[in-house]
Amino acid sequence: RLHNQLQELKGNIRVFCRVRPVLAGEPNPSPGFLLFPPGPGGPSDVPTRLSLSRSDDRRGTLTGAPAPPSRHDFSFDRVFPPESRQEEVFEEIAMLVQSALDGYPVCIFAYGQTGSGKTFTMEGGPAGDPQLEGLIPRALRHLFSVAEEMSGQGWTYSFVASYVEIYNETVRDLLATGSRKGQGGECEIRRAGPGSEELTVTNARYVPVSCEREVRALLQLAHQNRAVARTAQNERSSRSHSVFQLQISGEHAARGLQCGAPLNLVDLAGSERLDSSLTLGPGERDRLRETQAINSSLSTLGLVIMALSNKEPHVPYRNSKLTYLLQNSLGGSAKMLMFVNISPLEDNVSESLNSLRFASKVN
Ligand code: ADP
Ligand code: MG
Repeated sequence: RLHNQLQELKGNIRVFCRVRPVLAGEPNPSPGFLLFPPGPGGPSDVPTRLSLSRSDDRRGTLTGAPAPPSRHDFSFDRVFPPESRQEEVFEEIAMLVQSALDGYPVCIFAYGQTGSGKTFTMEGGPAGDPQLEGLIPRALRHLFSVAEEMSGQGWTYSFVASYVEIYNETVRDLLATGSRKGQGGECEIRRAGPGSEELTVTNARYVPVSCEREVRALLQLAHQNRAVARTAQNERSSRSHSVFQLQISGEHAARGLQCGAPLNLVDLAGSERLDSSLTLGPGERDRLRETQAINSSLSTLGLVIMALSNKEPHVPYRNSKLTYLLQNSLGGSAKMLMFVNISPLEDNVSESLNSLRFASKVN
């Protein structure tokens, strides 16, 4: 409760920056490249490219990008260094997730270039290692356990999950089975009924879930569906948005009360820009069109968030499928969190700068 009150004072949008570690086999950073200075008074005047202050877990500085002596300072609600564990990251958002049980719509996004750790943050690392589990399984486990506690006070909760992919402005069900698997028919976003405010995705499965095992099975199914699509259309997954939605409804029969709200966990398409100086061959024109569709839906998301935080009268929800699908969970009493995922590699420094700029614009 206190958390919710603080949140209201602060506004409903928070931005967390997360830097992933350098992976085995990736080029080591050159001498002088430090992601984090060792402490206050650290090597801010050595030619570091990206440094995030350790003394203050809310600030980051990108120096030497695109060339020294440029320096860019950013502030976020929280900065997670590369060694942050999934569990620590989840601890910071457990209360936010939980507020969906109290009736606050919640949206959590992962934004960043391909390879920056968005899917790791949302779904987790290679299956099987519980330490590497991401936000989706952790959030659901947390909700199930809080709901269980609240059943002692007379509340009954039910949860219904859906998982769709938005690719090039078409919506596809990641939970499709049987003949619709992989290349399932297209879905449309529609009002749930005449005069209803609620939106639903036609042809998509809405699956009741009540335990971890069922959630794992859904993530596994989504994984398979993506893999089938990937062979048909190379690299599609990095250019699509994945939207996991959980409809939560709670009821206190004895007191005649009802509550609940959607929880949305969104792994956004890679934010990288297509080099506009490239000359495109005939086969590459489709790629350009896709990239434009992705960039325009990401920028629509940015515009929607900015319009909400500036309390502008017109919010351009209808300008992309993503913002249309999420419109009931953005604005109003909804709470929003954006992770900006950052690659630690020197080669990625200009994309990192773009991502940090985008994130500080919506913050
Ligand atoms: P994206 O979804 O943004 O394209 P991924 O989540 O697939 O990026 O991450 C790229 C690679 O880096 C994957 O192999 C992933 O397992 C690894 N990775 C990302 N973040 C972390 C992290 N915090 N710790 C360890 N490995 C990570
Ligand atoms: Mg990914």
